[in-house]
Amino acid sequence: MNICVLGSGPAALTSALLLKNAGYYVEVFGAPRQVFAVEGMSTRTLNGLINAGFKGAGNFVGARHRRVSVWQGKYVEANGEFVIQRRNFDRHYAKFLRSIGVPIHEIDVNEVALPDGGWGVRFKGNSAPVGIACRRFDFLVDARGSGAPKSLNNLMTGPLGLSITCPFNNGAPIDGQYTYVEPFKDGWAWAVHHSDGSGSIQIIVDCENIKDGIKDVGVFFKQSLSQLGVTLDRIGCDYVLDSSVSYRGFCPTLRGGIVTQNSIRVGDSCYSGDPMSGHGMFEAVSGAFAALPVINTLLFRPDQNRSAIQFYSDRAKRIFVSRMKKGAEIYASEARWNDRPFWRKRSFFTSKLFVEDSLPQPGFFREPVVENGYIVERYVARSNTHPRGVRFIGGVDLYKLAKLIKVMKPGYSMDSIASELSLPTPSVGAAYQWLIANDFLRSH
Ligand SMILES: Cc1cc2nc3c(=O)[nH]c(=O)nc-3n(C[C@H](O)[C@H](O)[C@H](O)COP(=O)(O)OP(=O)(O)OC[C@H]3O[C@@H](n4cnc5c(N)ncnc54)[C@H](O)[C@@H]3O)c2cc1C
Repeated sequence: MNICVLGSGPAALTSALLLKNAGYYVEVFGAPRQVFAVEGMSTRTLNGLINAGFKGAGNFVGARHRRVSVWQGKYVEANGEFVIQRRNFDRHYAKFLRSIGVPIHEIDVNEVALPDGGWGVRFKGNSAPVGIACRRFDFLVDARGSGAPKSLNNLMTGPLGLSITCPFNNGAPIDGQYTYVEPFKDGWAWAVHHSDGSGSIQIIVDCENIKDGIKDVGVFFKQSLSQLGVTLDRIGCDYVLDSSVSYRGFCPTLRGGIVTQNSIRVGDSCYSGDPMSGHGMFEAVSGAFAALPVINTLLFRPDQNRSAIQFYSDRAKRIFVSRMKKGAEIYASEARWNDRPFWRKRSFFTSKLFVEDSLPQPGFFREPVVENGYIVERYVARSNTHPRGVRFIGGVDLYKLAKLIKVMKPGYSMDSIASELSLPTPSVGAAYQWLIANDFLRSH
């Protein structure tokens, strides 16, 4: 089976790495990132990259920056984050993939089509490398980021935002290295301060703020900067801004049509959140992990297609909705400017997708789950307090245990149930207690 991966960010590269390690033939078609961007990476994201097999990821990201936040006006210095320049990071990741034999074509994809028995990729201009243009692929992974063309209508979109970034230098080295998060009346800022005194400042505002068009972005950036307190104190008054201001628009979006029997979207092309969450790269990497069993199932167990598609679609919706709800809570917690459009839009953001289905009572439901690298349907215990469903407690399959308890005669000991399940008695006892405590064994 040969798989074509579009894009060259963390979603494309992690997908390609996992697919290659799973034994697929993979080729990547991705134009390198254009816009300058510095981003924060969590330890979880780094662990995901390492688990995917990206050797040297830890050395590349280096030591964490300490994170200072002045949300709600409260100064908090806490756990750090790794800081990466995205163009360098993506390039380094792509280099690693090449070193293990994944072909990567640095090329702008114009369109993909499924004319006869496989995906064909067409390129912008006359840039197709010899022998590539007529290649056919069995499966397509679209990880072209938030600019990927739509497959179907979006299912949900959040408020449009704009990020404006400018590097600075004040020439004065500092002890350690920091990031600063600071809200102000029309948005918030995230600054990176390296130990050599250089860094970058990013401000996030609503697109509505840029009334006079994008040509005034530089002026607007400086006006916003003057509203910051702690960040400027920490950076020091002698800082000099670089002449290059870069900007990128964004809109949290849950895409429609994210998976079909022979294609899947991963990363921002599947769903993208608000930069406030700081989870974008994590979602790209974890999305690649979630896509692998789905792809295995679609390619090798076509009778399970429906479950695989449901699994991936439900997952995307669940994560996107929970991130949007959490984001609204965080924005609402900064109540100093909730009369301002930026804060009002984000604090009171809601959607009909926020309404969760309510279950009349706890019960067992057949749901698609991951098992041995494929998507299969199994019974899980679901209730309003456990809406995602729980399958195992301490290695004990709750459905099997509940079924056994039902057919067992009163007076049977936990030992006999454990021996039926070939599991240790304390584990079975703990799972039994969990079923009782969560109201899954009402009739017993
Ligand atoms: C302002 C802002 C700040 C952010 N800050 C953070 C942060 O601090 N931490 C964090 O984890 N996340 C952050 N994010 C989110 C993060 O950037 C994304 O979630 C993440 O990069 C998604 O990875 P991806 O691989 O899906 O897409 P991308 O990283 O966008 O990669 C898509 C790739 O596809 C390529 N491509 C696009 N179109 C084509 C085409 N037609 N042909 C070929 N190639 C193409 C692009 O050049 C690009 O390299 C931020 C996002 C924004 C907007």
